[in-house]
Order: sequence, then C-alpha cells, then structure tokens
Amino acid sequence: MMMTATVKTGADHIESLRDGRHIFIDGERVDDVTTHPAFRNAVQSAAALYDYQADPKHIEWMTFESPTNGKRVNRTWFMPTSYEEMVQRREAMVAWLRLHGGFMGRSPDHLASSLVGQAMGIDIFERHGKARARAFQDYFTYARDHDLFLTYVIINPQADRSKPWGEQDDAFLAAGVVDEDAEGITVRGAKMLGTSSIMANEVFVANLQPLRPGEERYALSFAIPMNAPGLKVLSRKSFEAAAVSEYDNPLATRFDENDALMYFDDVKVPWERVFVYRDTDMCRAQFHDTAGHMYQNYQAQMRLLVKMQFLVGVALMLTETIGTRHMPVIDQELGKLAAQAAMVEGMVYGMEAGGGAYGKYYVPKKHLMYAAQVLTQELYPNYIKALRELAGGSLIMLPSSVRDFNHPELSAIIDKTQQSPAMAPESRVKFLKLAWDAIGSEFASRHVQYEMFYAGAQFVTKGHSARTYDWDTARHLVQAVLDRYQLDDVIRDLDHSRRAERIA
Ligand SMILES: Cc1cc2nc3c(=O)[nH]c(=O)nc-3n(C[C@H](O)[C@H](O)[C@H](O)COP(=O)(O)OP(=O)(O)OC[C@H]3O[C@@H](n4cnc5c(N)ncnc54)[C@H](O)[C@@H]3O)c2cc1C
Repeated sequence: MMMTATVKTGADHIESLRDGRHIFIDGERVDDVTTHPAFRNAVQSAAALYDYQADPKHIEWMTFESPTNGKRVNRTWFMPTSYEEMVQRREAMVAWLRLHGGFMGRSPDHLASSLVGQAMGIDIFERHGKARARAFQDYFTYARDHDLFLTYVIINPQADRSKPWGEQDDAFLAAGVVDEDAEGITVRGAKMLGTSSIMANEVFVANLQPLRPGEERYALSFAIPMNAPGLKVLSRKSFEAAAVSEYDNPLATRFDENDALMYFDDVKVPWERVFVYRDTDMCRAQFHDTAGHMYQNYQAQMRLLVKMQFLVGVALMLTETIGTRHMPVIDQELGKLAAQAAMVEGMVYGMEAGGGAYGKYYVPKKHLMYAAQVLTQELYPNYIKALRELAGGSLIMLPSSVRDFNHPELSAIIDKTQQSPAMAPESRVKFLKLAWDAIGSEFASRHVQYEMFYAGAQFVTKGHSARTYDWDTARHLVQAVLDRYQLDDVIRDLDHSRRAERIA
C-alpha cells in the first residue's frame, strides 16, 4: 500500500482500498468501494481519521515513531508500560472517536488494540509453537508499521445453535481448514459479520467461541489482505445508500461502517500468516491469556463513552427543541441520563487507574472492563428508549425529506408547524432528523443490535464477569462478620445474662 514519507493520510487509505477485493451488494460485485454509493461516505469518514493524525497540528500527539522502521503511526499501536502512557494513548484514541461520535464501532483503533494486547502475550503464542509466535510477531510489526486498518471475524455464523459447529448440516459452514501443504493452509467456510471489512486493509480471523475436541479444523487464526483470492464479502443492506440526503440522515450518510458476511472460498493462507493452528485451547488463550480481549474491549468502552456523550447532547437538545428543558421531571430525567453517561466514563477511568502489570506492560483492570460490558449492554437499549420518551411524536412529525423545503406551499406549512422555543423551523427539522438517525432510524436500530451483541450475547459477557470477579474479597467481608460469633458462645452469653437477671 502507498504511504507518504512520514505518516498515513486519508488519501493513502483510499488508494489502498482500490485493490480488486470481492465485495458484493444487491446481487452485484462492487468495482470500487471508494466510489460506490453504498460505501463511499463511510470510506471518506475512515480517511478523515488518517487526515486528522497527519495534520501537523496533531501529528505529535496522535502518532508515535515505530520502533522498527521509524515511521510515525497512530498511537493506538503503542504498547503502554505505565498508567501515564495508557492515558496518553486513550487521549489520542478519544480524539479519533470524537470524529464519528462513537458511531464507528470498528474504526482502526479497535483491531489495533486487540493486536497490541495479543502482542503483549507473545509468550502464549510461543507455547503454542515457535513458528506461529514468529508469524504473529512479524504480522503485528507489519500491521503497525503500515498503520493498517484491520477488521476481524472471530465468530461463526449462527446457524443452528442447538448443534455444535462440527455437527451443522455442512461441515464447512463455519470456516475451517480443508488442506495444508508446504506453503500454507486452505480455508473454506464462513465467519460472521466483519464490521468495517469493506473499508479495511486486511481481515484478522480467529475463533473466540468455545470448541469441543474433534473440532480442531475450526481452531484457526490467521490474517489475509481483503483482496486475497477466494475471499468473498457479502455486505448487508447499505443504510448509506438508502439515505435520502445528509440533511435527512446525517449519521447514516457518513458513518455506516457496514457489516458483512465473510466467505472463504478455498482461500490459501501462507504459513507466515497463520497464528493458531488446530489447537482449540489456544483459540481461547489467544484472547484470554494474552491481553487481547482486555485491550479490544477497553477500546470498545472508550468508544461508548464518546457515544454516550453524543446521546446526552441529543437528549438535552431534544428538550430544548420542544420546550420541556426546565420542567422539573424532565430535568431529573436529564440528570439520570447524564449520570449514566458519566458511569461509562468513570468505568473507563477506573479500568485505567485500577490497572496493573502484565509482564512489562500496563493493562486495564479486567473485571471492571467486563462489568462495564455487562452493564452497558443492558444500558444502551434502555437509554435509547429513554431518549425516545423525551421526544414524543416530534421525531415523526417531520417533512418526508429535504425536498419538501423546495415546495413553496409546503415550505410555508413547515415554517408554521415546526415551531420551537429554541430555534427557527428549519433548524428544528434539521436537529430532529439527526435525533431520529441517532435513536430511531434503521441505522440507529442497527446500533442497538451492535451494542447488545458486539461482545457476545449476555450469557457470554455475564460469564466473563463471573469468571473474573474478585469473589474472595466479597466472601471474606461476609465471613469476617460471621467469624465474630459462634453458636455456643452466644447461647452461653444468653444463659449468663438470664442468670444475672434472676439474681437481680
Ligand atoms: C451489528 C453487529 C456487528 C458485528 N460485528 C462483528 C465483527 O466485526 N466481527 C465478529 O467477529 N463478529 C461480529 N458480530 C457478531 C457478534 O459477535 C455476535 O452477534 C455475538 O457474538 C452473538 O453471537 P450470535 O449472533 O451468534 O448470537 P447467539 O449467541 O446465538 O445469541 C442469540 C440469542 O440466543 C441465546 N443463546 C444462544 N446460545 C445460547 C446458549 N448456549 N445459552 C444461553 N443462551 C443462548 C442468546 O442469549 C441470545 O439471546 C457482530 C454482530 C452484530 C449484531
């Protein structure tokens, strides 16, 4: 891929996506994702991230010098060794996240975070095998030094949940190895939903769900470029293409990062890109024994922190727009929404402050990260419901599209009916269209599903919380009170006091 002399720019990224990848939408193959109406604005939003880091005003704090090739790359690739470095890294990441209001779940910092965490546990890969560890380390260096935008697919297609992967009707429904030779392995089958894959440089493949003995063919991890022969990417419906205009769908037009099924049609993967091979426990260890799972989900909560701030802004402006802002009950509701947004922020700061050493690196506090996942997975849909409650029918009583403003008769009626104590009719419509895109449109609805499931269903995240909580401290607190008294002592004391009463 092309790079400027010092740091990756938006133009570099756009150019790198014109690589002959096989993306399909609406029954057709896409010639060029950078110009296709289903994807072009999302691609521009991704490019804007790189332009931001390349801006001379930001380059120093948004990027750092790679230790291997001296080029400046995004700070998300930095491996913190202290609390201070972790905070410095987060500040750069939050600046990126603000550019999309947290609406791009798999912006490049997500996968970079996962790889940073995995690289911290390179010894775990060493235990799996020297060659696989070398492959991972080299890949990490390559991805960082080229400031790659990566996506990942780590979950198998849902199919029939009552059966294990190996017992589905087609043994290669889930991506598995069909063959190996001196050059590498051949992979066939599918992985679920590569978010942002249409505009990523490469896809990182792994298996996060538990596998049983006998399912070694699915126990894989590797990375390939998005234009690898045989890789077919089936996009979901594009909300960007379905949007009427930026005025009508200001978020969907710009931040529809896309989600796509990935099909590996006998894709050849060279050994130097294979990180885990036929080892079911290593698939777990790759994320859970390294700091990979911690770092990728710490990034996800950081992103949510920004999105919650955005949604609090929507809530506030909704009440100003319809004149309810200072009603006591609404003020209290806003106070609650602000408190919930602040809780997410506090959880992120807590993960950092409570973090500790992992080898020579500094990692966030594990259980606080899982606690945040469990709580925010439930919080998000309720939060959206609360915002809709604030809005009433205002989100629906809107012109069908921006074109209504061009019709003099309609425009006069809009002016008369879209009254607000805070703004002119056109501004009211403009804001309410944005609010609908954040909390009600098909784009918004996909976001609810994303926040509920990107880290696994609730039984998965609650399981992580149960697995990592400090139960001993909790138990000891209770036990300490229980240990203060024994049945025999209490009875003896009671007898004493009765006797004393009788004597008196
Ligand atoms: C918008 C979006 C984007 C995504 N992006 C990515 C991505 O970029 N990369 C990626 O790898 N994945 C991605 N995913 C996939 C995501 O990780 C999965 O959706 C998630 O792990 C849940 O798996 P599932 O969809 O198979 O649902 P399931 O696990 O099948 O859950 C569906 C329902 O069935 C219940 N259920 C199923 N099995 C059990 C069980 N054994 N015990 C109890 N309850 C059960 C669940 O509780 C839940 O209510 C994305 C998903 C969404 C929605």
